[in-house]
Amino acid sequence: MNASFESEATIRQDLAAAYRLIALDGMDDGISTHISARLPGERFLLNPFGLRFEEIRADQLVTVNADGEVLDDPTGLGINPAGFTIHSAIHAARPDTACVLHTHTVAGVALSCLEEGLLPLNQWSLQLHDRLAYHDYEAIALDLDERQRLTADLGHCSAMVLRQHGLLTCGRDVGEAFLRMRDLERSCQAQLAAQATGRPLRLASPELAEKVARQYETWADSPHGNARAWQAERRRLTDDNHLFS
Ligand SMILES: [Zn+2]
Repeated sequence: MNASFESEATIRQDLAAAYRLIALDGMDDGISTHISARLPGERFLLNPFGLRFEEIRADQLVTVNADGEVLDDPTGLGINPAGFTIHSAIHAARPDTACVLHTHTVAGVALSCLEEGLLPLNQWSLQLHDRLAYHDYEAIALDLDERQRLTADLGHCSAMVLRQHGLLTCGRDVGEAFLRMRDLERSCQAQLAAQATGRPLRLASPELAEKVARQYETWADSPHGNARAWQAERRRLTDDNHLFS
């Protein structure tokens, strides 16, 4: 199933909001990392390379095509080449994905350094049971050859741990990618906090984990699910008069 397209204005506003919310929740990393949103015609939007996430406005987003050509760059700052490598790969390989979100957070990077990866410890992490991919680190993603290995590792998953690097989520829209990332981030934080106690850990059974994962999927598709949750997140930004101008 292909991702559904909204109007470009709505996509731009949602994407700008995602950048602001990622910053507001402390999941940004200076001018590094990136969030992209697909546009019709094999194009996608990325952040201008040089703005902090809390500065980004809908009308400043850069439009690039599948070959990495910049089609529209209102600020003249261009894009992060590593961002193009990662995002172009996933948008080309996964037509069901409208948004790709990548972070470097302390908890996400720490989790990415653990050999065992994410454990089935809590409700946040159980939703990713058998749905979380891993990709080995290959240095800063400037080699376009990495795109094939990246998408092969992602497979049909919509969340991925980039080992020794960070986290990545996909969504059928911007809101879904954001909400998935925040849960993944909290999964990492909760696991590290539990492990830091040094006490024995209680792991959920695969059967229980699968049940929870399916409950999350049902909820995400319901009228009370992701769409409503995303609008609630968007309202955290209503005092920001510069977001959409
Ligand atoms: Zn990165």
